[in-house]
Amino acid sequence: MPVPLAPYPTPPAPYTPPANAGAQSQLVCSGCRNLLLYPVGATSVCCAVCNAVTAVPPPGTEMAQLVCGGCHTLLMYIRGATSVQCSCCHTVNLALEANQVAHVNCGNCRMLLMYQYGARSVKCAVCNFVTSVGASTSGTEQKFNG
Ligand SMILES: [Zn+2]
Ligand SMILES: [Zn+2]
Ligand SMILES: [Zn+2]
Repeated sequence: MPVPLAPYPTPPAPYTPPANAGAQSQLVCSGCRNLLLYPVGATSVCCAVCNAVTAVPPPGTEMAQLVCGGCHTLLMYIRGATSVQCSCCHTVNLALEANQVAHVNCGNCRMLLMYQYGARSVKCAVCNFVTSVGASTSGTEQKFNG
């Protein structure tokens, strides 16, 4: 007796897996400084390149990254730290976040001005004089023009 064909049951609402399932995070190997991928939830990662075991920061720790000014290695640090020492060249890098403010004195009236880190110039609210900041990097930027 043939079994009557029933229409294929319609699947329930689209299934969205939990955010952590199969998710991967990344950290920098403590041995060779390679960027490693590891499954979320792991407590330590063994590097496939140099076999060094790198401890994973506890969940909830917000990590940030910056590039070492000395050796250009990608460094990871706990968000909120103000400085990060490179484990390769021991350069201490200031961990300046994009939303941090810096200070400069107005080039005209010497008023102390606040500006967002990364800004190239600041306009004085008192005398409207535009003070350029980051003069130390202007020399290196010239190179990219030619
Ligand atoms: Zn490694
Ligand atoms: Zn370094
Ligand atoms: Zn001024």
